[in-house]
Amino acid sequence: MGTDAHHLSQLLDVANRLRPDHVAVEDERGQALTYRELFRAADRLATRLHRWGVGRGDRVGLFLPKRLEAVAAIHGILRSGAAYVPVDPGSPAVRGAGILADAGVRAVVVLAEHADGLREAWPKTGPIPRFIVVGESRSCPTDASWDRVLGDDAPSPLPPTFDDHDIAYILYTSGSTGQPKGVMLSHRNAFAFLDWCDQTIEVQASDRFASHAPFHFDLSIFDLYVSCRAGATLVLIGESTGKDPAKLGLFLRERAISVWYSAPSILALLADYGAIDQPGFPAPRVVLFAGEVFPVAALRKLRKTWPVAALWNLYGPTETNVCTAFAIPDTIDDSRETPFPIGSACPPATMKVVDERGQAVPPGTVGELVVAGPGVMLGYFGRPDLTARAFLIDDETAWYRTGDLVTDDGTGCYRFHGRRDRMVKKRGYRIELGEIESALYRHEGVDRAAVIARATDDGASLVAFIAMKPGLKGSIIALKRHCTRFLPPYMVPDEIQFLSNLPTTSTDKVDYQGLKRLVSMAGN
Ligand code: AMP
Repeated sequence: MGTDAHHLSQLLDVANRLRPDHVAVEDERGQALTYRELFRAADRLATRLHRWGVGRGDRVGLFLPKRLEAVAAIHGILRSGAAYVPVDPGSPAVRGAGILADAGVRAVVVLAEHADGLREAWPKTGPIPRFIVVGESRSCPTDASWDRVLGDDAPSPLPPTFDDHDIAYILYTSGSTGQPKGVMLSHRNAFAFLDWCDQTIEVQASDRFASHAPFHFDLSIFDLYVSCRAGATLVLIGESTGKDPAKLGLFLRERAISVWYSAPSILALLADYGAIDQPGFPAPRVVLFAGEVFPVAALRKLRKTWPVAALWNLYGPTETNVCTAFAIPDTIDDSRETPFPIGSACPPATMKVVDERGQAVPPGTVGELVVAGPGVMLGYFGRPDLTARAFLIDDETAWYRTGDLVTDDGTGCYRFHGRRDRMVKKRGYRIELGEIESALYRHEGVDRAAVIARATDDGASLVAFIAMKPGLKGSIIALKRHCTRFLPPYMVPDEIQFLSNLPTTSTDKVDYQGLKRLVSMAGN
């Protein structure tokens, strides 16, 4: 469809104008909204938000599972001029409320069954915002029901001016000190990526995009806006189907998915258990993956199953969105053992590899990848200190320090060599081990806690070592239950081991290397 839009809300305006009767979004149960219906719902939500005084410069929370209403709410919030803050509804309410309060949201769109829990968990330090409640609820006088909002009849005036530096969305990622941090991304940031997609990845109005990633995950930016820009159909995949390769294989077939984007781990599971190699399986045309290394044996299997799909390895932290890309060849040699590179810079992003002092290193030398350009985030919400530390300022350019160790092969093609800190990936989810430790320290019996990640065939498994306070006995069940109160399910330790003391270094810091040796000895 191609537009000169610089505000994400304009994508829906255009799709509605050009393809009003085309299905914009479908959910798992097969319910659907055309572009006209999606536009109308978004417009009514924007009207209500304006009536509540919410607009440009404000933030609105989203606490909804994968439903049609969530997509309509995202477009409605953008249309109001505000930024959306999506939160994982599968996470404990305390974490969700903490994030939304941190972002200072003026309103929250929430599923009825979560509304009370979210209100109760809201930090006492600030006022609870107004809720727009999806589904039947015991309503609170300040809430509005989604159905009432949709019944509003006056169409909203568009906000008078847009600036593409306005925040479009804030995505919270795990924070090493225990507090999730809010990555602020502007409309300009989003368009830097969307324009690259427009030039590189061939999609059409007839495409059916899977929406596998949750909305608080930056992979969803591709699903939501590349599909809308193309006037194509977005097919939502719920949490439980999303994790089940057999159901997912069937879903892909029945829904004729033609464009797919996810973390590699689920694609590897699909290739093993999704029956995607059955005769007549409609292979997607475009398959993108990002978020972690795709082990080459699993990728080879996928490639053999889907020999003609365009397969792309995309790379980039939430803070930069996708900033490098590598097209996987049509065949993968049986002798190949090393994973494919993360690829070359996606224009207009620029990047270089630096040493610990920030000096560029020659090709072939491992260093940290730093990235600059219009795709790089505005900063962390309310955390100028963290933002300042995240950038290397050099020649008047702000380079985002990715924390990723890479080499440049001399042609500007980068190979990934791991992290320089304690951030790990599990099924594509970004986890700061420090955030898990902070949650463990909130247990009154815990004296010292340390968490490490052990590499497994399907990614990482989290092992927590705990020393309890003198005289107290630890219980694995109690500690795991404690963690589920503060952490999303994928961050709850897979294994907990009690030690009388944690090993320490000569400076009395936890000896993580020693703990890793303990784990590998136990594995042998
Ligand atoms: P997130 O902010 O959740 O997107 O996680 C970003 C991190 O995931 C990066 O800093 C890398 O450590 C890792 N990552 C992202 N894409 C890839 C990839 N294609 N290959 C290897 N690691 C990746």
